[in-house]
Amino acid sequence: MTSQEPIKIIVIGGGTSGLSAATRARRINEHADITIIDVCSYINYRISIIPRYVAGTIKNKEEFMLGGESRIPAVYNIKLISRSEVTKILPEDKKVIIRNIETHTILEKTYDKLIIATGNKYILPKLFSGAANFFKLRNIDDAIEIREYIRKTSARNISIISDNIVSVLLADQFLANGFNVNIISEGTRLVKEFDDEFNLLLIKEMESQGINVYLNSQLEYIKNENDLVTKINIGEKLINTHLIIYLNKIKPNVDLARDAGLVLDDQGNGILVDEKMQTSNRDIFAIGSIATSFSTITKGRERINLYGPAQFQGRVAGTVAAGGLMNYTGILGTKIVKFNNLYVGSTGMDEEEALKSGFTPFSLNIFSGNSDRFVQGSKQLHLKIIVDKITRRVLGAFVAGRDRGVDKKLDVLVTAIYSKLTIDDLINLNLSYIPDISTYKDPINLIGMIGANRLDNISDSVNLNDINKDGAKDYIILDIGNKNEYEYERLSGAISIPLEELRTRYKELEKDKKIYVYGKTGLRSYIAERILKGLGFEKVFNVDGGLLSMKLLSNVIK
Ligand SMILES: Cc1cc2nc3c(=O)[nH]c(=O)nc-3n(C[C@H](O)[C@H](O)[C@H](O)COP(=O)(O)OP(=O)(O)OC[C@H]3O[C@@H](n4cnc5c(N)ncnc54)[C@H](O)[C@@H]3O)c2cc1C
Repeated sequence: MTSQEPIKIIVIGGGTSGLSAATRARRINEHADITIIDVCSYINYRISIIPRYVAGTIKNKEEFMLGGESRIPAVYNIKLISRSEVTKILPEDKKVIIRNIETHTILEKTYDKLIIATGNKYILPKLFSGAANFFKLRNIDDAIEIREYIRKTSARNISIISDNIVSVLLADQFLANGFNVNIISEGTRLVKEFDDEFNLLLIKEMESQGINVYLNSQLEYIKNENDLVTKINIGEKLINTHLIIYLNKIKPNVDLARDAGLVLDDQGNGILVDEKMQTSNRDIFAIGSIATSFSTITKGRERINLYGPAQFQGRVAGTVAAGGLMNYTGILGTKIVKFNNLYVGSTGMDEEEALKSGFTPFSLNIFSGNSDRFVQGSKQLHLKIIVDKITRRVLGAFVAGRDRGVDKKLDVLVTAIYSKLTIDDLINLNLSYIPDISTYKDPINLIGMIGANRLDNISDSVNLNDINKDGAKDYIILDIGNKNEYEYERLSGAISIPLEELRTRYKELEKDKKIYVYGKTGLRSYIAERILKGLGFEKVFNVDGGLLSMKLLSNVIK
């Protein structure tokens, strides 16, 4: 039984987490007096549909309003105050000061419980100030402005300045609607949370579709004609542009919280919260992009800007504020992007994070089908997992592929990481199978088997970087593909012995040398490794993920 006290709840920000908190509070407590205040004109829309609207795939914003604003007061009996900014929180008086951004009238409202859900803000570069074709993109108001500008000016050359997933989602939609797109990142990666291999995969796909991706770019000089930025100078290159969308330098919007004396994290970026999403003031909650909560895996402090965590955190805060009980279980950071028909996703930790958190990680790549290879349209799935050598626990995963299957494999791995499953558990998951949508040996089972083999020293694997770093140079690179495969593409310096001939030709190999053996995906080369080890070769290493993985990193001769 939950409390039905007529408690007064104010939610600042009616975006993803705020709306989730307010509606959950109502479902818990019918007698609560709940108000959402938002500076934006609209509350209750799906922010993730914005790229479709901006690029013109969806013509009317009404198409992605979640039943319109009327639904929230009517169904949930929640008061909405839009186009109004909370300018101050007075914790001692349990009061907020609200300013209407059109009329500038000031309103004060008291609360019993306050939920702050103010999302992110941008640190906008002075370089562009005053330019009429420069836009940030944070909410529906920004999206409407951009759409209107494109409609009025017929802008076709779009420059997106960003280092996060939204750039990919936007580029995908602009491409589908015939725009020319440049993505400019000041960082070393297109999407900072994907590792280099998966970023490369995305970039190659984008470039193959005519999208230009510029990394490590310093925006040095901007030509400004008639208050329009027509060219962006990023060092060597001058990019012609009609419109700039800025998604860079996102910062949590914590000014209100800081001024109210709430404790922030060590970097002063996010608001510190506990597992109930309560801040240092027990009557004030913080949720979404502004909340520094914790990692599901390590319980160490973490903050994230993603839809899922924002929604769950809202659910927890709404429950607790309304008198119920609930704990947040932490952030895994699961994300997925789509570009053209390529999907790339990740969850949990990469090797670097795992190492920093005190684990002893190793990573493993495999390639497998998203349906049986006899089924027309079957495509390769690329899975990479990060596992702790000591506990054998799965810590992180990356998945990429075309058309279908990426989300399914990723979500199974999310469940595995959340449930603290080990590499051995992955072998034993009884996953569904029909040839049309899966393979007889599911990639999740397969990666479990290969990982366990490696931990049990049945197989030793390396990646291309390990070979490149091998100082000895006195090693053999053995290609076990058939003659046609070898002639079509191979690793520089590789010799060829097809797998079928290995048992009769193994004497051509010197036993005292290190042998790096590879095939197309790493599966046949594992068999070759076992054959050679069985024949007394001690220093045999299977190249993880085979040519498909190495192709991403060069060295492949075509
Ligand atoms: C274009 C776009 C597409 C995205 N697509 C995806 C996706 O596909 N998948 C995914 O996982 N994530 C996606 N994201 C990220 C995701 O939307 C955010 O992580 C999530 O919305 C964060 O929720 P939030 O509640 O913290 O902030 P928001 O949803 O941004 O809400 C914050 C709200 O607070 C209001 N506000 C701020 N300050 C005040 C104030 N002082 N007074 C009153 N109101 C205030 C703002 O107007 C805003 O409505 C996308 C983001 C963008 C911008």
